[in-house]
Amino acid sequence: MMNALRNMGVRARFLLLIAAAMLPLIGLVATGLVVSFRDAELEAHRSIANETRLGAARVSRVFDDAREFLATLRHMPQVLNLEQPACNRLLAGLRAERPQFLSIGVISASRTIVCHSRGVTGSIFSDGKVFEQAINARGNRFFVGDFMISPITGKPTMSVAMRLPPTAGQAAGGVVFASLNLPMIERDMKILSRATGHAWAMVQPRSDRFLVSWPHATDFGAVTPDFGLFSLIRASREGKTAAAPDIDGNETIYGFEPIQNAGTADLWMIVGVSPEEVFATAQYRLRWTLTAGLGALALALGGTALIAYWMQLRPLALLSHSAKRIGAGDFSVRTGIERWQAPEFRRLGELVDTAARTLAQAKAAEEAMAAGRRRFQLVADNTVDMISCIDASGHRTLVTGASRRILGYDPAELMGRSPLEIAIPEDHPIVRSLLDTLRDGGEVGGVRYRVQRKDGAVIWVELSGRPMDEVGGCVVSMRDVDQRQRTEEALAEANRQLEELASVDELTRLANRRTFNRRLEETFAQASDGSDFSLLLLDVDHFKAFNDRYGHPAGDRCLKAVSEALASCVRQDDELGARYGGEELALILPGAGPLEALRRAESLRRAVAALGIVHESADEGFLTVSIGVASFSDLKASAASPQEIVQRADEALYAAKAGGRNQVRSRAA
Ligand code: GH3
Ligand code: MG
Ligand code: MG
Repeated sequence: MMNALRNMGVRARFLLLIAAAMLPLIGLVATGLVVSFRDAELEAHRSIANETRLGAARVSRVFDDAREFLATLRHMPQVLNLEQPACNRLLAGLRAERPQFLSIGVISASRTIVCHSRGVTGSIFSDGKVFEQAINARGNRFFVGDFMISPITGKPTMSVAMRLPPTAGQAAGGVVFASLNLPMIERDMKILSRATGHAWAMVQPRSDRFLVSWPHATDFGAVTPDFGLFSLIRASREGKTAAAPDIDGNETIYGFEPIQNAGTADLWMIVGVSPEEVFATAQYRLRWTLTAGLGALALALGGTALIAYWMQLRPLALLSHSAKRIGAGDFSVRTGIERWQAPEFRRLGELVDTAARTLAQAKAAEEAMAAGRRRFQLVADNTVDMISCIDASGHRTLVTGASRRILGYDPAELMGRSPLEIAIPEDHPIVRSLLDTLRDGGEVGGVRYRVQRKDGAVIWVELSGRPMDEVGGCVVSMRDVDQRQRTEEALAEANRQLEELASVDELTRLANRRTFNRRLEETFAQASDGSDFSLLLLDVDHFKAFNDRYGHPAGDRCLKAVSEALASCVRQDDELGARYGGEELALILPGAGPLEALRRAESLRRAVAALGIVHESADEGFLTVSIGVASFSDLKASAASPQEIVQRADEALYAAKAGGRNQVRSRAA
């Protein structure tokens, strides 16, 4: 049931709604019809009861008249005295005036007809039963006999009888009687029936008899034990109405009423009416109502179906058509709900149209983006640098085709991996640091490190990158700088060597004269600010003779050894040992005053002597040096210059030579 309801379409639901809405109306009309049927039935019963009562009263008067007639007749002298033929004439005359009687007669105590309206005397009265009742009764009781066909007239009749009053002449007694003219009563009923249109009958339920009836359903006096109404009448004993089949079995509504003055005969008047007649009006109403109702229902349902189509199904069909087209990717569709449709549908239509427009825009944007992506891919893949995107977790989300050339890897092989994986372990700190910088939102530019290509070769790359604020992560470009790096390294090495060549003395590996001069000037400038410094000038004693004796190469070796001794004397980074020229060496001691300088010079002199280089041409027999010392603080401040301190040291050296060599001299200003 619920399933059927669920599967109901809009139209069916509308029809159901209308049907449901009409239900109370139908109920009302049906109730009205039922009530009208019920009213018709009640009215039928009431009017039948009335009719029956009237009919019974009418027939009752016949018996009443008969009783009065017999009551009068029994006192007539002709009757009492049985004066023949006067009695016969009297009765014939009386009968002629009373068509309700077929015959009138007097019966003797021996049941012999002794006087008769037709003059048929001498025969035995045929209804012995009523005769017996009457002859044995007291006073003027009125008796009605059984139905019979009169043996005298041959017509259907019932006798009415009354005892003669007891007289002297008629000690044995007698009875006056009259035969009722049942065909005349039948004519009466015919009139009633014509007037009412109903079936009329006088019946005797006691004997299951129809005495008289119209329309002429049965013969006079027909016994019909199957007629159900008889048992109802017998049970009722008073006038009523009841439904029962007629003698042909047709359902009939009957009224029945006892005929009051029929004495002991127990006669009833019945009036029958067919239900068709009773319900004719109600049925007419029913037919009319049904026709009109069905017409109205058809109109309502048809109208509803039409309304359901135009108001619901049509906009729904338009909406679903649009939805289908949109679903199939056609965003140019417009729903086209008519302006007179319900605002809900119009709004829905506008929503669908808006959705289609939005989707169309999105599609256009998507196409533009795809074109842009293709362009970007083309550019990216044809760029010398390898461009990659790295997400917040440090993994690549995009790699351009340059990866094949630079690293020997397909972009797909590098996707989702960390830049650390291809960096050589020594350079991991660099890569980590640059990734950290990028993650923290900083930019990196030109960071160099080494990576291992897929073929195993280690190359230098340079990485620049910046964070992508809009989408998160960062974009980096990697450039192959291996060749450049190596060239630069070679160049730096060459420069370094050149620099060394330009500043270092080749033989002694001490600073050369040029470097010495520059440093001296610098130190002098610094000392002008208030600090002191000293200069030692050293000259090898009798070196010419050493050369002469041991040869020039040995002289060179000796000079190198002395230079090393000097270099070992250098205590601080800012001190400088230099080859001043030939076999003359110098030592600049920034911060050192005259005393400190002498001490240092003395320790140097000893250090050389301690070398123990044999010099047989010298007085001592080993190689010695003379050292001249000059301090900045010894100079005359007004004329102070670097050259002056050199000159002072030189003078001190000269003094040391003059003083016998292998000694230290200072020459204060
Ligand atoms: P003194 O200084 O004790 O007065 O005597 P000296 O023999 O050392 O005299 P001088 O200082 O004038 O001599 C310098 C000599 O040093 C001249 C030269 O043959 C030698 N000489 C200078 N430069 C070099 C060098 O680079 N190698 C060698 N083997 N000898 C050098
Ligand atoms: Mg010299
Ligand atoms: Mg010398």
